[in-house]
Amino acid sequence: MSKDPIYLDYHATTPVDSRVVTAMQPFWGEQFGNPASRSHRYGLEAAAAVQVARETLATAIAAQPEELIFCSGATEANNLAIKGVAETQHRKGQHLITVATEHQAVLSPCRYLESLGFQLTVLPVNSQGLISVEQVAAALRPDTILVSVMAANNEIGVLQPIAAIGALCRDRGVVFHCDAAQALGRIPFNVSDLNVDLLSLSGHKVYGPKGIGLLYRRSGVAIAPQLHGGSQEQGLRAGTLAPALIVGFAQATELAIAEQPTETLRLQTLRDRLWQGLQAIGGLHLNGDPQQRLPSNLNFSIEGIDPSRLIQRIRGAIAVSSGSACSSGNAEPSHVLTAIGRSPDLAHASLRIGLGRFTIAEEIDRTLEILIAAIQAERSRLTRHKKG
Ligand SMILES: *Cc1c(COP(=O)(O)O)cnc(C)c1O
Repeated sequence: MSKDPIYLDYHATTPVDSRVVTAMQPFWGEQFGNPASRSHRYGLEAAAAVQVARETLATAIAAQPEELIFCSGATEANNLAIKGVAETQHRKGQHLITVATEHQAVLSPCRYLESLGFQLTVLPVNSQGLISVEQVAAALRPDTILVSVMAANNEIGVLQPIAAIGALCRDRGVVFHCDAAQALGRIPFNVSDLNVDLLSLSGHKVYGPKGIGLLYRRSGVAIAPQLHGGSQEQGLRAGTLAPALIVGFAQATELAIAEQPTETLRLQTLRDRLWQGLQAIGGLHLNGDPQQRLPSNLNFSIEGIDPSRLIQRIRGAIAVSSGSACSSGNAEPSHVLTAIGRSPDLAHASLRIGLGRFTIAEEIDRTLEILIAAIQAERSRLTRHKKG
């Protein structure tokens, strides 16, 4: 039997931490109640557990418990934020602003609204993957109702200047939404420092379960529900709450934030060791700003290889992605790498490496050996082809 591939795709998802599994355990069994059932102990116990988790999560981002809306993940939170604001504010204005490198879960709802008649400005990024506050300021119009900018990019890990953009939007009375799915537990932040009105989070990016996330909504910010049914979550998100997932999400978030400072140092050291080691071979191009990025992210394009053959060579030994998980299998190059100006060839020939909680030094050294050997083998194969 072959060994499991080394997992280095932590931006796609993270394994559930065993401490999170333990915290969720009772809610798959004896504590099965529906938190909306107020007439018996089963429901009341479930509601109490959800309330504790809600308070934990609110504290983690310096929000009030009633400002959190639980939903199925960051995709749903983004949809609720973007379409929810558009629906309540369309009489005030119909202009939206976002960024070319956003996750599809932001770009797609924005494009959808555009198809309904809203006007959309998609800001370009510079060659490092960053936008500036001045760019946002120049794009704001009297009829702008929403600005949506992600905190940390899921492909190249770059960190946008969220706090400054938030301050600008507040000045101008425009609702500001931030997709922070990749930022939670990886960089320190809270909703007050970031000046955000709406913020999306996901459980499975912080060593919690899949299928749970939340939208932070600053009190007073009007959004329209996108699911109609029961009156859960203040009528903003119908559907029975999932106590097991919510408790797991809260536990995972608390752990990730507590361990963030030491993890940042450890992962940045390992990431830098990998990148420095790779310099032994030439023709590699770092994608995204070297400083303004997640400590655990590495993304680079490789000259002189056939990307699908390289992936074939390494896939048995290391689990990494080329582009984002959501678009893999696509013939189109990554929209993020295209936006920073990479040619289609270099955009295709890129690897995204995400380190995480269970990454150890031996795995990084092994990865380095595998990558160098595979890239060199691919390059000499292509050279032989050309000569022959
Ligand atoms: C993973 C991710 C999402 C989608 O989150 P789900 O909870 O899987 O729906 C959205 N935005 C970013 C930046 C992500 O990394």
